[in-house]
Amino acid sequence: MNADLLLQETLIKRSQQKKRTSPLNYKERVFVLTKTRLTYYEGKPEKKFKRGYVELSRIKCVEIVKNGGGIIPCRNKYPFQVVYDTNTLYVFAPSQRSRTLWVLMLKNEIQNNAGVLMKFHPQFWLEGLWLCCRQAEKQAMGCEEYNLFGDITRKPLPPLPVEGNNRRHRPPPIPQDGDDIDDDDDDDDDEEEDKEEEEVVVALYDFPGLEPHDLKLVRGGEYVLLERCDANWYKARNEYGEEGYIPSNYVTEKRSGNLVQYAWFSKDVNRNMAEELLRKEDKEGAFIVRDSSHPSTYTVSLYTKAGSGEGRPIIKHYHIKQTRGPPRQYYLAEKHLFNSIPELIEYHKHNGAGLAARLRYPVGKQDKSAPSTAGFSYEMWEINPSELTFMKELGSGQYGQVRLGMWRAQHKVAIKAIKEGAMYEEDFIEEARLMMKLSHPKLVQLYGVCSQQRPIYIVTEFMQQGCLVNFLRQRRGSFSLGSLLSMCLDVCEGMEYLEANSYIHRDLAARNCLVNDALVVKVSDFGMARYVLDNQYTSTKGAKFPVKWSPPEVFNYCKFSSKSDVWSFGVLMWEVFTEGQMPFDQSPNHEVVTMVTSGHRLYKPKMATPALYDIMQLCWNNRPEERPSFSQLCLMLSDVLEDDILPST
Ligand code: ADP
Repeated sequence: MNADLLLQETLIKRSQQKKRTSPLNYKERVFVLTKTRLTYYEGKPEKKFKRGYVELSRIKCVEIVKNGGGIIPCRNKYPFQVVYDTNTLYVFAPSQRSRTLWVLMLKNEIQNNAGVLMKFHPQFWLEGLWLCCRQAEKQAMGCEEYNLFGDITRKPLPPLPVEGNNRRHRPPPIPQDGDDIDDDDDDDDDEEEDKEEEEVVVALYDFPGLEPHDLKLVRGGEYVLLERCDANWYKARNEYGEEGYIPSNYVTEKRSGNLVQYAWFSKDVNRNMAEELLRKEDKEGAFIVRDSSHPSTYTVSLYTKAGSGEGRPIIKHYHIKQTRGPPRQYYLAEKHLFNSIPELIEYHKHNGAGLAARLRYPVGKQDKSAPSTAGFSYEMWEINPSELTFMKELGSGQYGQVRLGMWRAQHKVAIKAIKEGAMYEEDFIEEARLMMKLSHPKLVQLYGVCSQQRPIYIVTEFMQQGCLVNFLRQRRGSFSLGSLLSMCLDVCEGMEYLEANSYIHRDLAARNCLVNDALVVKVSDFGMARYVLDNQYTSTKGAKFPVKWSPPEVFNYCKFSSKSDVWSFGVLMWEVFTEGQMPFDQSPNHEVVTMVTSGHRLYKPKMATPALYDIMQLCWNNRPEERPSFSQLCLMLSDVLEDDILPST
């Protein structure tokens, strides 16, 4: 063991893409921090091969990467950055704690370095862009002040009692021949690529493969992953050696511990949805294994007519409990311990053993329709208008008419024809490429644009039930509290994703959310307010400006942020729980400005519980920084759903 060792852990490293053409990839590496170097190794801590290193004296900045968990296809969700020379190394830690420790330790070691940055980039460099400031030059000056000990700790760690700690202003070492700097692990190192083990994924849905360069997927089939092209598209190979692009959200890693590969597991299904799916299926012993409302724990929801006496169906929810370990074991009913959740499920398929019924019939949400893909194929944002057919009108809005249509006579889509003079078209078309990469089950997917003609068309996912506010109004009186809350959760999850990607909606309201046939609510028109060419809409004094959804910092100073979206979300919750009423119905916009400024807020809707109204009021805090984030709101809403609204069984 190296006596100099400060920290060692298996983390994930992003390739540095020193060559423009080399693909981005994410690899597990054993990271070792000593007093002089940050070194990373391939393999296991016991048996590892050095792949590269960074001299600590060359490091200019170490910091967490903000909003990093979202679009990055990496299972570790806590990224941090190490800036050295002209490069940035991105490393992904498995937990907040682990990341904090690495960042603090590294900061402590570099605090006396000569070249510590004044300014840095708080977010990723991705696909030719700094996500924080949108500068397209990799060497562009940072956009935020760098404070070595400002952000995640106020106090440096005390110096560790290790000899030779006094490294004040030590000049950087001169690279020696054969000891060239850092990165023999880069993606341009073909030798290493060859040595990598093949990564296998399992298809969760069928994918027809729409373009010649796509690869067809068959549900349950296994594919070798060749390249993660971006967050939404991978390149893969099938068993016949055919290669092509596949949507990343249609596959999951084949590895033990990944439950998503099993038909009985449904990610992102809450108790309400589980009950709905099971009732719809209406089969004795139907079950779903899902994420529980508490992180990293799972629940089995089971449908049975056996226990109720009168043959009435009941749904039971069982937490999968874990022993402390090691070895960690799992159980549903005491005395039946298993080393893994799949083993536990397999056992209870054949043995009730304390459950109301045995687990007979797996129900998965992927049995239903496949999710949208980010565009119809990889790097395809321009849609050929001759491949579109137009059908009925769906509605019209700020930009013009929206119609139902078909793409290649197969896929239902919504087509927005932008009326002349309604939009900053060039700016939008540029942005559309980035918008297409935003892909989430609770966002209305942008599939592409027809930008070579006038009017331009915007082609998006079709949402059969139209906009949320009309949906609520037309069905007033028919909603349960759980279903209203579930709508808010849908929107909140979509917004959490936007927030994680530093994307501001700017016009979040029930009218800008859409509902599909599965009654899932999705956020639409995100970021689109920036391209409206209409003073009445864009000026805060204009008649169409959404004052009633805006916080003071927006109607006073046009200061938009994810936190201003949070305010709007509070109003959207109010719209949902009043089943589509107009906020501040009796007051014109200018009065609302005065009222809100003097502290007046929307009243508690009758259907909202006090806990839900508390959440709305948190969103309407005058101070943006004191409003919760969308990820906090998601947790709060799930808690209300689990604890207060759904009867416990
Ligand atoms: P704009 O952005 O021009 O203001 P909207 O997005 O508000 O237009 O669309 C106007 C109406 O068209 C909506 O209220 C809704 O009824 C319908 N609509 C828009 N997009 C879709 C879609 N993707 N699926 C189904 N209906 C849609």
